[in-house]
Amino acid sequence: MQFKFGSNTRQTLDTGVYCRQLNPELCNNVFYETLFSHTKTIPPMVFDSHCHLDFPAFDKDRDELLAQCYRQGITHICLPATEQPHWSRLINMLGAHKSGVTLYGALGLHPFFLHSHKDSYLEELDQLLSNKPESVVAVGETGLDLFIENPDLPRQEELFAAQIIIAAHHNLPLILHVRKAHDQTASLLRKLRFQEGGIVHAWSGSEQQAKAFLDLGFKLGIGGSLTYERAKRLRRQVTDLPLNAFVLETDAPDIPPAGLEKGERNTPLTSVSVLNIMSELRQEPVHTLAPALMKNTHQVLNITT
Ligand SMILES: [Zn+2]
Repeated sequence: MQFKFGSNTRQTLDTGVYCRQLNPELCNNVFYETLFSHTKTIPPMVFDSHCHLDFPAFDKDRDELLAQCYRQGITHICLPATEQPHWSRLINMLGAHKSGVTLYGALGLHPFFLHSHKDSYLEELDQLLSNKPESVVAVGETGLDLFIENPDLPRQEELFAAQIIIAAHHNLPLILHVRKAHDQTASLLRKLRFQEGGIVHAWSGSEQQAKAFLDLGFKLGIGGSLTYERAKRLRRQVTDLPLNAFVLETDAPDIPPAGLEKGERNTPLTSVSVLNIMSELRQEPVHTLAPALMKNTHQVLNITT
């Protein structure tokens, strides 16, 4: 391919039955059921659709943390890439982890690290995706960020457009990072007639922008921001929009939810708090929300197993 551009939500129900009731299609995880067989208490299964588990912040205790995630019901995590030098390390981390958690990934060039991306990385990305492991499920994270200093929008658009074309070429969804650029992002996706959908991570747009992305086949990633009472607009959207608009995420180690000190490491464990807040806002029980969100994430990332 040529480029022109350079908690407390535990449910007590019969073991196994609960798990199957939750999600008959997706929950065939015998290990998961066995783990809770002695307690008759199975937490809802959660997919953290955006976590930078490959970052050095997790080097010391990644395995222990994943074991803890699994015990608390976080059974699936997706790791989006940020920069080319870390792609191979990320790929090596994916698949079935010994804790029971399944790790998926996305490959791409994050707009925040604009100045470290080279044009040659785009061709490398295209080549890698031609021969990718099954656990690489999307292109990302990519997008537009007008919040950074010296945003150089034309260069950001070049890199983003190239990644949209690559994703389309491989029939892969996109994991988008968008700050203060929702309209420009949606317009570029429309211009390039992108059909594969994806996730707009750390959703922060307006109602109208939400509608534009939903029409383009995207889901909105809801994470730690929802835990702040001042997030009025986001809380209103989470209450009013249909449930199939959303997926859960943490962006760990970043975006700490309410309750964590500023600068304290966020982890995938906080996706359970986000789920609880969503349940309060929507007045829907966690045991109906969790499987629906799990299904949304599987659908949008085309995960069938
Ligand atoms: Zn991220």
